[in-house]
Amino acid sequence: MRQRGSSRREATPANPGPATDRRTVWLLDLDNTLHDSITHLMPGINRAMTEYIARELDLHPDRASALRVRYWHRYGATLLGLVRHHGIDPHHFLDEAHRLPDLERVVRPDFALRHALTRLAGRRLILTNAPRIYANRVIRAVGISRQVDAVIPIEAMQFAGRFLPKPSRAMLRKLLARLRVAPSRCVLVEDSPANLKAARACGLRTILVTGIGPIAHRDHLRHRAGRGRYIDHQIGQPHRLPRLSRIMSVHYG
Ligand SMILES: [Mg+2]
Repeated sequence: MRQRGSSRREATPANPGPATDRRTVWLLDLDNTLHDSITHLMPGINRAMTEYIARELDLHPDRASALRVRYWHRYGATLLGLVRHHGIDPHHFLDEAHRLPDLERVVRPDFALRHALTRLAGRRLILTNAPRIYANRVIRAVGISRQVDAVIPIEAMQFAGRFLPKPSRAMLRKLLARLRVAPSRCVLVEDSPANLKAARACGLRTILVTGIGPIAHRDHLRHRAGRGRYIDHQIGQPHRLPRLSRIMSVHYG
């Protein structure tokens, strides 16, 4: 995602940087962590997924919607259930479900977030279960392309032909090996408690973001935060990351 001429070194899963790199690696979730996707995009994505399932599996829309939700809960991504049980082409499904012609109209630039990420020392990688084209469009619309060192989308979470999206611990361990970074140098920033729990089990530090999205979502996360021993820190807005980063460096060295 670096712009041409940028002085910062690009770090992608294929180009992980030197093994001696001791900078903090920020693994930043995208949807409902850096922007509100529940309000602006999820209705359109869910509608497109339901239409796709109804069309491809010849189901009534109500049954297609129920199947979408069931696979989401069971596998963490509707895609996995469709691939595993119905032989759906994952790339076709992802393309069709994320067309979102209104995306650039409803996702607005967030200048405070851009400023915060600029001040956040370390490598900033977007780790999202969403497809690459969608993630890049959101990142551009929010206005943080220059602040992101690399995007790790769901297409990059394939190992031996199998999709292993978050919260897969196997995926996280393979990713850290690919990045050549110790788990203790990585921080996962997320709105998903399940993803943070998996990260903690792999030795990563964890930050729960509770202040993005509708009130019901925020209340749910704040309730979960109080119970999750796998959550190192909790913040309302991702804008607070630079300040939290300074406190963390005191704690973790
Ligand atoms: Mg999320």
